[in-house]
Amino acid sequence: MDALSAPATAPRQVRGACPHDCPDTCSLVTTVQDGVALRVQGNADHGPTGGVLCNKVSHYVERTYHPERLLQPMRRVGAKGEGRFEPVSWDAALDDIAGRLAAIAARDPQAILPYSYCGTMGLVQGESMAGRFFHKLGASLLDRTICASAGAEALVQTLGGKVGMKVEFFTESRLILVWGSNSIASNLHFWRLAQEAKRQGAKLVCIDPRRSETAEKCHEHVQLLPGTDAALALALMHELVVNGWTDEDYLARHTSGWDALRERALRWSPERAAAVCGIEAAQIRSLARDYGTTKPAAIRLNYGMQRVHGGGNAVRAVACLPAVTGAWRHRAGGMLLSTSGYFPVDRAALQRPDLLAGRTPRTINMVQIGDELLRPASPEFGPAIEAVIVYNSNPVAVAPESGKVVRGFAREDLFTVVMEQFRTDTADYADYLLPATTQLEHWDIHGTYGHTDVLLNRPAIAPVGASRTNTDVFRALAARMGFRDPCFQDDDFALCRQAFGDRIDFGLLEAQGFASLPIPDAPFAEGGFPTASGRCEFFSAALARSGQDGLPDHVPNHEPAGSSTRYPLAMISPPARNFLNSTFVNVQSLRDIEGEPLLEMCAADAAARGIGDGQVVRVFNDRGEYVCKVKVTPRARPGVVNGLGIWWRKLGLAGTNVNQLTSQRLTDMGRAPVFYDCLVDVQPA
Ligand code: SF4
Repeated sequence: MDALSAPATAPRQVRGACPHDCPDTCSLVTTVQDGVALRVQGNADHGPTGGVLCNKVSHYVERTYHPERLLQPMRRVGAKGEGRFEPVSWDAALDDIAGRLAAIAARDPQAILPYSYCGTMGLVQGESMAGRFFHKLGASLLDRTICASAGAEALVQTLGGKVGMKVEFFTESRLILVWGSNSIASNLHFWRLAQEAKRQGAKLVCIDPRRSETAEKCHEHVQLLPGTDAALALALMHELVVNGWTDEDYLARHTSGWDALRERALRWSPERAAAVCGIEAAQIRSLARDYGTTKPAAIRLNYGMQRVHGGGNAVRAVACLPAVTGAWRHRAGGMLLSTSGYFPVDRAALQRPDLLAGRTPRTINMVQIGDELLRPASPEFGPAIEAVIVYNSNPVAVAPESGKVVRGFAREDLFTVVMEQFRTDTADYADYLLPATTQLEHWDIHGTYGHTDVLLNRPAIAPVGASRTNTDVFRALAARMGFRDPCFQDDDFALCRQAFGDRIDFGLLEAQGFASLPIPDAPFAEGGFPTASGRCEFFSAALARSGQDGLPDHVPNHEPAGSSTRYPLAMISPPARNFLNSTFVNVQSLRDIEGEPLLEMCAADAAARGIGDGQVVRVFNDRGEYVCKVKVTPRARPGVVNGLGIWWRKLGLAGTNVNQLTSQRLTDMGRAPVFYDCLVDVQPA
């Protein structure tokens, strides 16, 4: 019987997990028939998913079978960046890659750099076999800081870890501050809970420089200048103190450093903060009254606001607020930035740092890949970077100051391997381009940073084309390089089991696709913060020892709004609603919704420059120039423009994107990027 006349098998459903860098980590159900994925839906049995996916991942089948999906290994035949390749067999590609890496490693393995981030959040296709491979090799270590490490460090220094409210209890909150988050675009399942709270009478306040889709659906919008959140938080504290809205019992029993923080807050009158934040003092007073007198009050912070020089201090200042008012006493009070610290991941088992065998390779900060690729060998730096292995990331599009990133990847003497699903901007610079599986095609296991469930991802279909899992590629390279440790034989299912060991019920995970961590409903109602003192640490001795201010403070931007006559506009670059970082930009149906790369600008700033709606403009600063269209809209406040990201450079109007303008400077803590701390000017193109 031929395939055309064969009877179709009945459709079956396979449970998985969304791999994308999004706090919601949805449980997926893929319907498969005859080995073909027909649709991907949200799992109705999984509480945090509630049977609903965002528009992006609803298009996952279109992305999986995309006509431009990479289906076979490719070797470069054109110039770097030109994107001209010829097909090559897996064996030929892997043999040559292993040989080239071995030759470099024989001189100094630190000249080899892995470059990866959260293209998948999966613990297995992320840093499991990859970590083992690079540790065994002795390659440079990568400081994976490009998104969240300022906020993460701030949480650690304040609450003791990346911990917070359980997201499901936001439905019971009476006041929700949505702080630095366009939840509709990037935290949809929280937004559904916030809507439920709103229906039950809660007030929603959005704090964001952009009048986002979320801001316009909240009761109130505090449209502050970028990088001024700590000033606002301190002024709120000022009002809590002077009006007696503090919870002195909670402060005495469960916090440390209050006397000093109180004194600092008293220096931040609403008038002083209003001048810094570019808002009215009356709005600060009113917000403080709401926050001080409404119970339970909750804060949903997201990572946008920490992408500025003082991002760590800002998160620390906001994270102090629920302890000042005792909001943690109620399960619907407190704050949530990340829950990832609750997950007992056994990273040592997955990544095997013991394979370094006493070696201590240098660490390269991924944020500064532009500078580092261009850096010559020196005693302090060590060898110049000779090889980069990129997986789960698209640095040419997403790393800051991309003019330098491009120059670095264009080096003819740099050996570059890119494991990818599509021909991204970075893929164009590869010497070898290796086709990678998608989430529908491999095993993985996931923690999350937005709820408290572990999820298991089963493969729903066979790898498309000749694509291979990341783990498989690193296993194959390890074999060719003579790495004989038994851990290089572990298959992906074994890696899934090792991720949490016996700290979760793996049988339950297999049976239903998810398993909840045993977190108390109100984790800090009686203190018990995971700090050394068990208290919420307003004063951080560790920060003080490192030479920083031990108390949170307003740390001005490297490039404060209004500080330059050459570049009078502050630019932030929040994600376009239908993209997730640079993922999905090549999915036509989603790109059709977004249209073209856009810069949002308010009417006054546009008129002052003779710019009309829809006009093509150059956005520029000393780092470079970006050409896009202007949308004249109240989504941008005066003095601030919003460059929606992150477009692939080659799909933009002139081969660049917003990161041509962003800088490689770092935050106050966490060695993180400052994407939203960027001055520009705009002219008609
Ligand atoms: S991107 Fe976020 S909201 Fe969309 S399916 Fe994935 S986890 Fe859910």
